[in-house]
Amino acid sequence: MKIKSAEFVISNSKVTHCPKDPIPEYSFIGRSNVGKSSLINMLTQRKNLAKTSGRPGKTQLINHFKINDNWFLVDLPGYGYARVSKKDKKTFQKYITDYFLERKQLVSAFVLIDIRHEPQPVDLEFMQWMGENQIPFSIIFTKADKLKPKAIERNVDLYMQQLLASIWEEAPNYFITSSTNGIGQEEVLQYIDSLNENFKKNNWADLI
Ligand code: GDP
Repeated sequence: MKIKSAEFVISNSKVTHCPKDPIPEYSFIGRSNVGKSSLINMLTQRKNLAKTSGRPGKTQLINHFKINDNWFLVDLPGYGYARVSKKDKKTFQKYITDYFLERKQLVSAFVLIDIRHEPQPVDLEFMQWMGENQIPFSIIFTKADKLKPKAIERNVDLYMQQLLASIWEEAPNYFITSSTNGIGQEEVLQYIDSLNENFKKNNWADLI
C-alpha cells in the first residue's frame, strides 16, 4: 500500500467521541517506550505524525489519524493496570477496554512487543483479555534491528511458545519490524490493505 495521505483527526479519552466515519480502523497499543510512535511514523512515512517519547502530549488519549482517506490508524495510550476495588483487583484502564469493546469500526488491533524482552505479565494478560473478549489482534515485534537474526528467531519462538502454552491453542499472527531500518513496513501495510479489501467486498460499511 502506498501512503498518499496521513492526517491527524482528533484526540479524546472517550470511545463515544471517536469519529463516526464508517471506515475500517486499526489500532496500535503497547507499553510505553515499546516504539509505538516510531512505528506509526515509519508505517506512514511521516516524521512526526505520532509524537515520540520525550515529547509529552497525547499519550493518554485515543488519537485518530485518517490514512489515504479510507482507513483510520489509531494510536492508543500505553496500557497498564488500573486498580478498581479494595482488593486491588487488577484491570486495564476503562477507556482502553471501552474502546475495544465498543468500537465497531475496529477491524484489528496490533499489540506491540519489544523483541528484546522476555514475555511480561502485563502484555500476556492484556492479550489474554483481548482473546477472552474476541478482539482480533496481531502482534508486532519492534526494534528488530537491535538483535541478530538468530536472536530474533529465538525470542519470537520463545514468545509464541509461551503464548501457546499459557493462552491459546492457536497463536496470533505476528510481524517483525524495525522503525530504524523499515523492516516489516511492507508486510504490515499489505496486511491492512488485504483486510480493507475484504471489508470493501463485504459491504462492511453498511454494518456499522
Ligand atoms: P513509544 O513510547 O512506544 O511511542 O516509543 P517511541 O517510538 O517514542 O520509542 C521509544 C524509544 O525507542 C526511542 O528512544 C526510540 O528512538 C527507540 N526506538 C523506537 N523504535 C525503534 C527501533 O525500531 N529501533 C531502535 N533501535 N530504536 C527504536
